[in-house]
Amino acid sequence: MTGQRRQKEKRKKHKKKDEKIVKGLAYAVGLWYNKRSVPAVYAGCHNKENRIMDEITAKQRISELRKLLETYNEQYYMQDNPSVSDYEYDMRMRELETLEQQYPQFAAPDSPTHHVGGGVSRTFDKVQHTVQMMSLQDVFSFAEMDAFLQRCQEAVPQPEFIVEPKIDGLSVSLEYTNGVFTRGSTRGDGFVGEDVTANLRTIANIPRQLHGAPPFLEVRGEVYMPRASFAALVEQQEQNGETPAKNPRNAAAGSLRQKDAAVTAQRSLDIWIFNIQQADGDYPQNHLDSLRYLESLGFPTVIPRSGRCQTAAQVQAEIEKIGAARDGYAYDTDGVVVKVDSFAQREEMGATSKVPKWAAAFKFPPEEKETVLREIQLSVGRTGVITPVAIFDPIQLAGTAVSRATLHNQDFISERDIRLGDTIVVRKAGEIIPEVLRSVKHAEDAAPYQLPECCPVCHTPAVRDPEEAALRCPNPDCPAQLMKRMIHFVSKDAMNIDGLGPQNLAALQNGGLLHSVADLYRLTATQLVELDRVAEKSADNLIRAIDASRANSLDRLIFALGIRGIGSRAAKLLCERFPSMDALLSATAAEIQEIDGFGEVMAESVVSALQEPHMRQLIQHLREAGCNMTYQGAVVEDTRFAGMTFVLTGTLSAMKRSEAKEQILRYGGKVSGSVSKKTTYVVAGEAAGSKLDKANELGIPVLSEEEFRQKLQERNETK
Ligand code: NAD
Repeated sequence: MTGQRRQKEKRKKHKKKDEKIVKGLAYAVGLWYNKRSVPAVYAGCHNKENRIMDEITAKQRISELRKLLETYNEQYYMQDNPSVSDYEYDMRMRELETLEQQYPQFAAPDSPTHHVGGGVSRTFDKVQHTVQMMSLQDVFSFAEMDAFLQRCQEAVPQPEFIVEPKIDGLSVSLEYTNGVFTRGSTRGDGFVGEDVTANLRTIANIPRQLHGAPPFLEVRGEVYMPRASFAALVEQQEQNGETPAKNPRNAAAGSLRQKDAAVTAQRSLDIWIFNIQQADGDYPQNHLDSLRYLESLGFPTVIPRSGRCQTAAQVQAEIEKIGAARDGYAYDTDGVVVKVDSFAQREEMGATSKVPKWAAAFKFPPEEKETVLREIQLSVGRTGVITPVAIFDPIQLAGTAVSRATLHNQDFISERDIRLGDTIVVRKAGEIIPEVLRSVKHAEDAAPYQLPECCPVCHTPAVRDPEEAALRCPNPDCPAQLMKRMIHFVSKDAMNIDGLGPQNLAALQNGGLLHSVADLYRLTATQLVELDRVAEKSADNLIRAIDASRANSLDRLIFALGIRGIGSRAAKLLCERFPSMDALLSATAAEIQEIDGFGEVMAESVVSALQEPHMRQLIQHLREAGCNMTYQGAVVEDTRFAGMTFVLTGTLSAMKRSEAKEQILRYGGKVSGSVSKKTTYVVAGEAAGSKLDKANELGIPVLSEEEFRQKLQERNETK
């Protein structure tokens, strides 16, 4: 078996396993809604699959999963921009937990299964949490919930349980000294969080002053964005041509973790307090009474009307009640939290390094709904893959309207026998990507659906690699592919050419100005102005942005070339090993495979892409256009502005002030609102006023916008 085949088989096996887990969950959900008891269906699937896994494969998979989960954590907690659904994340985490239990020889204390996923951004000051802010253990079926309840019952005598909705937002701690709100922070990694006091002060429901509070009180709560505010935010973002927020949880996290509290203030966030972290003095010693106490102090709380539960049946009934009511809540809930009521019993039960043993989160399974398939659109990707997309009657799933979902390829459609006009079942796993699960009824006279034999855009006969399910347009000059390649080339993580959106690119392509991405570097401001859409000033800015992109580090260019399987991280790893384009062009697959994280498939993908005549020609054109062909090191470690304080004044023309701020912070500097002797530089844009005068008075160096931009382009001297 070749390495490529082996990898494929492995992927297939994992996919099958994931599907089994999904089926197990779907089954559990079906039973749940039918109000029957739920067997531990998918725990069984896991064990059976994993038992046949050999040690080497298990070790590899464990390492793969750890890397994957750390990447997801970074995207979710630090960038507030997840790429996969919570459901998918939870399934991967569960797979890793199971493998680590079955292969304890590969246990590692720094595995994502042992620590809270978040971190601390350099944008904020750090706050050391005196009481660790933990996560929760997840359960996905009533059988697992029963097992949790039983563990509690075995650990402490006659525990009572409180059942609460699990609000989907982000966890914060609020500190009150002598009743006054003094500091608020995010959870971070559980031990150290981010100081977001100023931002929290913009949330109207956080009391500034408590009456009758102990001398010191720390409470924990969940900041969330109500669904109505989220809908308004998305509408506004769409109107402004911005990328809309993915879901209320990420919108809340992104809004709270803003450097500028004025932005947070516009986002209508809310909060719900669910715990006393610590207090000087007396307070109730059980959860239910402590919630009532918090409410009496003026905190917004949700007090479970049902009171305390003693049995598994009561807990299940409460979960079902919340499950049935949650669509009507003003906020998103991703589950139900079940907690032991008595604090003394909690103390006795203790915690792992990540979660308390006295609480568990029952996670809701993804929602499913029926709708009618009206059309199948065909989309041609940048590598020529022709993807069928289902367009169906809009349905509400996980709080948002959904009307399209990918149908992947012909095999996917044929296996499910999906036909035009069918009644289909759609699921939105977590809150991100909707998927078509199955067809439940064919429309009358509907024929089986077949993808066309030619590319829907350039009409070149399409090809199907026998090893792959995808149908491809083999024409590298296909306008649809070129457009997608352009969009990718200019995108933020690639060449980062701001202002060249899909509509401008389409106008340029239709105007005959773009036949290859290298043509971007031949554009003039006059040509841009001739496009109806671009004003003179924006045209100048665009040309400047294109020009600046010539200096990008090689890893950005490699990522921008869109080599199959090479994301921005892989491009960096490649460039660390081969720091110039020439070195990379002469690298062999065997040499590339020596890079940690590169398997045979990725290495071969790089070599064959770079040997392809079209690609060689493109690289030559980019070289002639003056694009940098060397690697400049990892930007994240660039601390060129460390210890420096900048003051921005006047109007900047080529970048927004927020972007300038972001760049300064990114390179380790600080931004201040006023000029003092401690100021390192004042950046003066047009019509700079009193701050510029003050800088001159104090002899502080003043940078023009152009000089500031040069500083940003300079190579990090510490490297
Ligand atoms: P968690 O979300 O499963 O549970 C812990 C959190 O629940 C606490 O921080 C707390 O703030 C919150 N919470 C809400 N209501 C509560 C209540 N009534 N009582 C107690 N706590 C309550 O765990 P986590 O560690 O915060 O996050 C892990 C989860 O985040 C994953 O299970 C996944 O769903 C999601 N996640 C998704 C991605 C992704 O890429 N999609 C990445 C990382 C994490």
